[in-house]
Amino acid sequence: MSYYIGVDVGGTNIKAGIVYKDSVIKRINLKTQADRGPEECLNQIRRAIKNFINEGEGIGIGIAGIIDSKKGIVRYSPNLIGWEDIRLVSILKKDFKKPVRILNDVNAILIGEWIYGAGKGYKNIFLFTLGTGVGGAGVCEGRLLFGANGFAGEFGHTVINFSGPKCLCGNYGCLERYVGSRYIIELAHNKIKKERTSLSNYKNLTPKIIADEAKKGDRIAIEIFEEVGYYIGIGVANIVNLFDPEVVIISGGISRAGKILFEPIKRTVRQRILGPQYRRLKIVPAKLGDEAGILGSAFFVANLDL
Ligand SMILES: [Zn+2]
Repeated sequence: MSYYIGVDVGGTNIKAGIVYKDSVIKRINLKTQADRGPEECLNQIRRAIKNFINEGEGIGIGIAGIIDSKKGIVRYSPNLIGWEDIRLVSILKKDFKKPVRILNDVNAILIGEWIYGAGKGYKNIFLFTLGTGVGGAGVCEGRLLFGANGFAGEFGHTVINFSGPKCLCGNYGCLERYVGSRYIIELAHNKIKKERTSLSNYKNLTPKIIADEAKKGDRIAIEIFEEVGYYIGIGVANIVNLFDPEVVIISGGISRAGKILFEPIKRTVRQRILGPQYRRLKIVPAKLGDEAGILGSAFFVANLDL
């Protein structure tokens, strides 16, 4: 067994670690300087890698955006300003003289959960992340799904209401437009105006606060999670009808909300998929927390056939 370096590059944080077997042995976090342009951000990635370069046999990097894993090019990243067609693999290979592979960050999280976490032992998996954005990734018949252009799994931009509000992507009624964090908070503010709720005691609402208040029994907070779970359930039903996964894994902060989120999702999915009684299907929270991306990226460079 060898040691590999896993890096998770997000718009807010760069997380890196050295992985041995199924564990992140050491790790560091840097605040991403995304607004300073690609060169500064690239230097941060280099600095993160340098911490572990003596031990690491290879470097795997997960990045939000459209990533061409085969050619090693970051085509476009919505969170990193100025990142367009950056040949990240050849740049870092030149710097470090070790194998380097890159992939989409949600694909990295999926690999982590598939090999070590909630997807262990399954061959048909769909994972999605709930946060500011809503990402997705899939394993079909034991193969990671990349798509022709590296766009596969954009769950957040599947449409759940064709005449719904406009999304940042330009389309209307996308799932993300209903269940991305800022829209959950917007939904809460709309309800606070009309109803009496403990949520009105908070200046800066977050999905976590709403979840905590729902668990304490606040009627409006429960109602919000019922609605959010219903929207997600419609999205998941579409995925289940298309791909017939054995397990759907929900990752990201809100996935820890527990029953108040999972029950409306499961109920909606059961009502809306074809032949629920004939399917083996689980809907579960992710297990690895924010280490999934580091573990998955490291596994990706350690296993070149993936
Ligand atoms: Zn969209």
